[in-house]
Amino acid sequence: MFIAFEGLDGSGSSTQSRLLAERMEKNGHAVLLTKEPTGDTPIGKMIREILQHKWEAAPHTLQLLFTADRAEHLRTQIEPALQNGQTVITDRYLFSTLAYGAMDVRMGWLRELSRFFRIPDITFLFKLDPRECIRRITGRGSDFELFERHEKLAKVWENYEKIAADFPNFHIIDATKSIEEIGEGVWTIVMGKIQE
Ligand code: ADP
Ligand code: MG
Repeated sequence: MFIAFEGLDGSGSSTQSRLLAERMEKNGHAVLLTKEPTGDTPIGKMIREILQHKWEAAPHTLQLLFTADRAEHLRTQIEPALQNGQTVITDRYLFSTLAYGAMDVRMGWLRELSRFFRIPDITFLFKLDPRECIRRITGRGSDFELFERHEKLAKVWENYEKIAADFPNFHIIDATKSIEEIGEGVWTIVMGKIQE
């Protein structure tokens, strides 16, 4: 079973990926909890340095790096764990590249690059108003800052909605609910899928 968590920054997806991994482990499932961009890898490191503006890269370069990072993530971690019968839970996956990346480069090109990547058995997409996402991460910013960032995140969300309609196995999660309620909803969907 391969499960991905997706959503805008601040929507609560990392929190729920951790909770699901813990609960599955407690219930006797072997789990690999992982994330993208990957942690302790050369390509993951390059991506973080570009995002932190330590060096400059063309938008296409950044997207190619995200894609290369994913290819290695699949080869070295995800595929071997699935072969071992583990459940793989990834905090962000190719849909983050499509939704965020399409702000800078063509979505069609990104989809072409991702054509041969494994599609998760379940993708949870966390739906939360961009303003609330920003509040959860930063507390209240200035109104103008909030407005500017809101505009951008609203476009990223539009991309996510298009993707959710185009790919299989998406579950849109109402992320306004409490952490506990969302956890229960996620659990029910995963257990339902396991019993299929
Ligand atoms: P993401 O990974 O989507 O960026 P996080 O899981 O890191 O989001 O959560 C962002 C912030 O919001 C954290 O401070 C987290 O504790 C808080 N948070 C997560 N889920 C909820 C929720 N359901 N309700 C309120 N706050 C939440
Ligand atoms: Mg996160």
